[in-house]
Amino acid sequence: MRPPLPALPARLLRTGLLPGALAVALTATALPAAAAAAPADAPSRPAADAARDAEPPVAVSAYDDAFLEQYEKIKDPANGYFREFDGLLVPYHSVETLIVEAPDHGHATTSEAFSYYLWLEAAYGRITGDWQPFNDAWAAMEAFIIPGTADQPTNASYNPASPATYIAEHDTPQGYPSPLDNGVRVGQDPLADELSSTYGTDEIYGMHWLLDVDNTYGYGFCGDGSDDAPAYINTFQRGSQESVWETVPHPSCETFDHGGPNGFLDLFTRDSNYSQQWRYTNAPDADARAVQVAYLAHTWAGEQGNADAVAGPVADAARMGDYLRYAMYDKYFKRVGDCVGATSCAPGSGKNSAHYLMSWYYAWGGALQNAQYPWAWRIGGSSAHQGYQNPLAAYALSEVDALEPESATGAADWAVSMDRQLEFLQWLQSAEGGIAGGATNSWGGDYGQPPAGSAQFYGMYYDWQPVWHDPPSNQWFGFQVWGMERVAQLYQTTGDQRAKDILDNWVPWAMANTTVGTGGDFQVPADMRWSGQPDTWTGTPTGNSGLHVEVTSHGQDVGVAAGLAKTLLYYAAGSGDADARAMGEGLLDALLANRDAIGIATEEVRADYQRFDDEVYIPQGWSGQMANGDQVRPGATFSSIRSFYEDDPDWPQVEAYLNGGEAPTFTYHRFWAQVDVATAFAVHDELFG
Ligand code: CA
Repeated sequence: MRPPLPALPARLLRTGLLPGALAVALTATALPAAAAAAPADAPSRPAADAARDAEPPVAVSAYDDAFLEQYEKIKDPANGYFREFDGLLVPYHSVETLIVEAPDHGHATTSEAFSYYLWLEAAYGRITGDWQPFNDAWAAMEAFIIPGTADQPTNASYNPASPATYIAEHDTPQGYPSPLDNGVRVGQDPLADELSSTYGTDEIYGMHWLLDVDNTYGYGFCGDGSDDAPAYINTFQRGSQESVWETVPHPSCETFDHGGPNGFLDLFTRDSNYSQQWRYTNAPDADARAVQVAYLAHTWAGEQGNADAVAGPVADAARMGDYLRYAMYDKYFKRVGDCVGATSCAPGSGKNSAHYLMSWYYAWGGALQNAQYPWAWRIGGSSAHQGYQNPLAAYALSEVDALEPESATGAADWAVSMDRQLEFLQWLQSAEGGIAGGATNSWGGDYGQPPAGSAQFYGMYYDWQPVWHDPPSNQWFGFQVWGMERVAQLYQTTGDQRAKDILDNWVPWAMANTTVGTGGDFQVPADMRWSGQPDTWTGTPTGNSGLHVEVTSHGQDVGVAAGLAKTLLYYAAGSGDADARAMGEGLLDALLANRDAIGIATEEVRADYQRFDDEVYIPQGWSGQMANGDQVRPGATFSSIRSFYEDDPDWPQVEAYLNGGEAPTFTYHRFWAQVDVATAFAVHDELFG
């Protein structure tokens, strides 16, 4: 049998949904490691001491000691940050299991966590000269969160002339399932052939964003329900109002073994019939961070005369950057600029569907291996959030020989992207200095009509809350420091004037909204409110007198404080600003004063845990089961389809709250935050030690 090939390619395709690759943290806390997993062989704890005794390649300082102390806590198997699989480590999202923010469970993990794991080991290599842990971290990433051949088996069926079938997005989960629409023409994918010929494979080299490390949901490998952990899963699929509390977790590999007769597919898409399939969603900021960290490792190992020690991961990072170009493209490869109307906006050709920014995701999928008519699809992302931009990674991929991708046009594309990302941040800078949300080429996810008078950036439309609205995506201050830290490091490394100009406006605003007291007391911004919009971009910053931000709450998130400290220290090193350095050091000292047995942490109150009772929308007539037998049907709630939480050691606090008690307080040890703290100490040592 032959598939009806050229006639109906699109009919056989399936497209990505609205994958929400957020990797945010709100705020949180908890009981230490009660249910800590059991990582095995202590990875290189003694190495730290040994290396210190053995002529470290750089000078040590007090903050250097602080880094090593925090490093050893994170790597101590007794502390529960990792699970060990055959000698490789997988970091959990948090030590604590009961935590709901972007991941819906603490022993899930994300591509974000892997990128921070790399960062931790790169900093360790700079201080000790031992690069084996960094190489091990890259190997773990490749083994567990970059889908392997068995996980993405049918890419050879992909047709770049017809990347995916269009499916409109909707604002609320009630808008789903959303029908496949063959009446909307999509553009062509200009990357696929170049990548396949460069690397000799049709597989994508990029991370999926979410793993179920302990197989808590029970989907196992390829949804077969086996005990094969970690398992690829996904949650977000149903539009900008679908918060984590409204999601239905499902296997990335859909075999119809769980859910209903069509697995979980018909919760998300409407089709005449459903095929077994696999699909993955990349969070571009995490892959960009992995590239950035590989660049740092390359630089630091090179300064030790030992660049060869990291040559393998550095070459792999260049390759990851080649594929990360998918994040620069409109979701359906439609032309970028004034793209209004799903049927009227022109399909792109060549590279005119590239916005050259880091969008919220790219995604890819296909039929299972034994499909009678194999097919595969790919999509880019139409919306770019300021907090995902990484001009430092773009610099490395376009200006640093060892990181320049092998493909014919990869480095040139990243050169365009570096300029475009910096312009984007200039365009989004408010009158006060904070960076506003972002822009989209597809208003509402269906190429809708933006509000009249919307400001534009290269023909894309200003969006104060790109991609997700529950909560608004640019409300959290963490996305300010994640982005600005990279800008500050780029400035400190290259002296880029645009980066300096952005920071000259941003740093005073951030400092004016931060206080550092005594005895470990500190307050950093938590949430912000936005008003107005920027001026339409014409190539030069205008000051944006009509775009404003106000800090509406403060907190003691240790990860945010560490990211802010790093930003201030890089800025101070580049500019000589003594006040920025003093506040950066003040934050480091405040963090040191908040040490506990397994890391550095503060308490947080989780009033949002009321939403454990939130209803999860299931259409009338739909009925199915989670892998553990929890019923999925109208009236289901966040907790009813996650009954495993009732066995969690922290559940009684949540239960008491749901029964009318006080909002629970937790002291969480998020992996990314603990690493941001560790690396903040290391940055001080690097810049001023
Ligand atoms: Ca909602």
